[in-house]
Amino acid sequence: MIIVLRPDATQEQIKHIVEKVKKLGLKPMISRGTERTIIGVIGEEDIIRVQPLEVFPGVEKVMPILKPFKLVSRDFKKEDTVIDLGNNVKIGGKRLIMMAGPCSVENRKVLLKTAKAVKKAGATVLRGGAYKPRTSPYSFQGLGEKGLKMLAEARKETGLLIVTEIMDTKDVALFEKYADIVQVGARNMQNFNLLKEVGKMSRPVLLKRGMSSTIKEFLMSAEYILSEGNFNVILCERGIRTFEDYTRFTLDVNAIPAIKSLSHLPIIVDPSHATGKWGLVPAASRAAVAAGCDGLIVEVHPNPEEALSDGTQSLLPEKFEALMQELRKVAEAVGREI
Ligand code: PEP
Ligand code: MN
Repeated sequence: MIIVLRPDATQEQIKHIVEKVKKLGLKPMISRGTERTIIGVIGEEDIIRVQPLEVFPGVEKVMPILKPFKLVSRDFKKEDTVIDLGNNVKIGGKRLIMMAGPCSVENRKVLLKTAKAVKKAGATVLRGGAYKPRTSPYSFQGLGEKGLKMLAEARKETGLLIVTEIMDTKDVALFEKYADIVQVGARNMQNFNLLKEVGKMSRPVLLKRGMSSTIKEFLMSAEYILSEGNFNVILCERGIRTFEDYTRFTLDVNAIPAIKSLSHLPIIVDPSHATGKWGLVPAASRAAVAAGCDGLIVEVHPNPEEALSDGTQSLLPEKFEALMQELRKVAEAVGREI
């Protein structure tokens, strides 16, 4: 249920309503828009039906949210959410945000080299996994905290923000310390305990779509994070499982406009995991930008042949730089900028 306040509602009136909602044993979530404030009410809706909240001063109307996702929905918040990632980098506005870097943090040298190259090409966020969700327990599992420290060093050296994947609730404090954006990977999209924990974090969360998840399930996972109070969620379409096996996954371009209409949250695209082939990454990236995404996360490696993970889908730095040039034109054609 959402309580839409009048544009002239006072702080006192808002406080009064919030207190009333809490007294009823429900959880109020305040969203302050540019025009008006909305209070989302989470909990057993029947309780509130017996309370005529419409009569409270400052209230314009009370509406049920019929969709299962509430806080993430456009009904709850009409305007696009713009998230301040730090360093004056904002996602969800006119400018697209480019995140790039190796699949895994492998060593200082490769990481710093990649970081400098992607920064030069125009990226503002460095990606790199220190805890890797690998299909095989015998594959490289990541450097752990050592890898997080290398990412922090790369941030210091380049000024890039860091996005890196969390796999375990016990690592929350570490990620608060080292990451600017905390990534929840496709395989953990429905790890509800992890979603609740990152929902309590102070860092923005990059939530990747599960490879076999519907758009509705994806948004319900985001709802878990918002319901714990963290409204800074960036969604990421990264390809889904289909019958096609020529590519690693199938990029669901439909998901971009669909999610834009259903939710106010920013959505980015990962063309690297979606295709699994570096040669397909540029076309998938162009399609994603044309379809209205808010940014991309791209795997880049200075020596893909030697990469410890996902070399086949990693772009060489010069290929990434060329892609950035192309994307600037596509972005301009759809009223955006990079
Ligand atoms: C990654 O970004 O390195 C990754 C493992 O992606 P996904 O969770 O989308 O498979
Ligand atoms: Mn990868």
